[in-house]
Amino acid sequence: MTEITGKSLIAGQWSMPGGESFQSFNPTSGKSFNSFRSCGKKEVDTALAAAIKAYREMRKLSGKQVGGFLNAVADEIEALGDELLETCDSETGLGLARLTGERGRTTGQLRAFATIAADGEWVEASIDTALPDRQPVPKPDLRRMMKGIGPVAVFGASNFPFAFSVAGGDTASALAAGNPVVVKGHPAHPATSELLAIAFERATKKSGFPPGVFSLLQSSGHETGIELVKHPAVQAVGFTGSLRGGRALMDLAAARSQPIPVYAEMGSVNPVFLGPKTLASTGASIAAGLSGSVCMGTGQFCTSPGLAVMVENPDFESSMKDAMEAAPRGYLLNPGIRDALAHGLNRLLGIEGVEWLNEADFAADSMTPPNAVFRVSADVFLREKSLSDEVFGPVTLLVACRDEAQMLAVAESLEGNLTGSIHAGEDPELEARLMGLLEDKVGRVICNGYPTGVEVCPSQQHGGPYPSSSVSWSTSVGAGAIVRFARFVAYQDTPERLLPDALKNANPLAIYRQVNGELTRAVL
Ligand code: NAP
Repeated sequence: MTEITGKSLIAGQWSMPGGESFQSFNPTSGKSFNSFRSCGKKEVDTALAAAIKAYREMRKLSGKQVGGFLNAVADEIEALGDELLETCDSETGLGLARLTGERGRTTGQLRAFATIAADGEWVEASIDTALPDRQPVPKPDLRRMMKGIGPVAVFGASNFPFAFSVAGGDTASALAAGNPVVVKGHPAHPATSELLAIAFERATKKSGFPPGVFSLLQSSGHETGIELVKHPAVQAVGFTGSLRGGRALMDLAAARSQPIPVYAEMGSVNPVFLGPKTLASTGASIAAGLSGSVCMGTGQFCTSPGLAVMVENPDFESSMKDAMEAAPRGYLLNPGIRDALAHGLNRLLGIEGVEWLNEADFAADSMTPPNAVFRVSADVFLREKSLSDEVFGPVTLLVACRDEAQMLAVAESLEGNLTGSIHAGEDPELEARLMGLLEDKVGRVICNGYPTGVEVCPSQQHGGPYPSSSVSWSTSVGAGAIVRFARFVAYQDTPERLLPDALKNANPLAIYRQVNGELTRAVL
């Protein structure tokens, strides 16, 4: 067994910071274990000084070398074996089966970005050759491509300790673009973070990469993260977590003397729209599918469907009540999420007209919440803006509308979401109008399915209009995530010897490039 030291990995050195101490918490046993200390400004400064140095060195490395490093990280994570899964399970209660799948997704993401970095096509190379005889003025030779942006700060979420944390998609995509990464560890899984940092340390040494390529700053409390985002060397932030946390970091980044982009993936209610004829014929199977999606992972997914909109249908309400009651209770990740859930349930109950269809007990210290389905009329929903706020946990709100026109009014009233789902195959007119509305409101429209389960592939879009994400065009899942941590540089009349390989006449990387408007691999 690897000894958990409670230290942070700062530019290749393990050190014990002098900040507040905190512990891992086991949600299934209720016991605290392992001690850690929070990093402060000194550790942030050390990590960033090394990151700048690493960035300068990484600019000389090829995409193949960066890819080799990412593959080595994936190998080292796998080499941690069951110990990583068991440690993570003891800190999250997510279970070995789920964590095995999430580890596979995480190493898969690292390897996918390794291939993207090695191929080199992600830079979107574009070449417009000179027209020296053009009248009235000659046209210069212009070539453009994407390059890494500089040191990136990454904040992971508690509910994805592998896929959206230390070694998750933000870290993998930022590294693939040639940037060093400084991770602010999530206080809900610090031992897991320490083990993952060991994998980075081993891969860094084996690949001969500069030690500043990766640092893990352990911390509990906002100070470390605030220092990190304020640090002038940080050039972009990847964040996955709550709207409150993401918004605080967006504001902080915008207030810097050099504002920087914050790619924040935040909460979402992921509305599901149920057409009346479709619900009449398939209500029972929709209740089974929807309740399964709401309760999956104890509702602790950013894509959990927190809202279902339908034309008044008492039979469906009753099917949902039965299905939610029958679903076994799961564990919450940590006391912070439990307290936020209790607050969210009380907030819903405090609104006149909101009815808890399967009302059940939820003791203040219980880590196993009831699976809750609420109901409200659309008239009340349209009046009470807070009813479309995320309640993070196994909770959904049925919005009962008078007619299809009111369903469309509810759709129009919604803010940005990660996903929106439509079950209205037997209501084609409504289906088409909902599609038109949801395209404007969400990042991913799902037909006849449920939002949980995010396929990792190039066509995925995980990110939607604010407040689900800070930058609506960006995705934190899939190949497109890499461009968040890069910027375009154009080279005008630049001699071949000074051009990056991606833009050279000989096309040594053999990549597709846009040459005078035509996509080609041709040599110039
Ligand atoms: P969280 O409480 O926002 O924490 C995320 C990270 O940000 C932690 O490291 C936290 O550390 C830090 N942080 C939070 N508020 C901060 C502030 N004001 N200033 C500086 N740092 C701050 O989120 P969580 O509880 O881990 O995750 C649950 C939430 O994430 C849910 O709302 C869920 O929907 C969302 N989520 C979204 C996605 C997505 O892809 N869109 C994926 C998973 C989860 P400290 O507390 O130590 O400061």
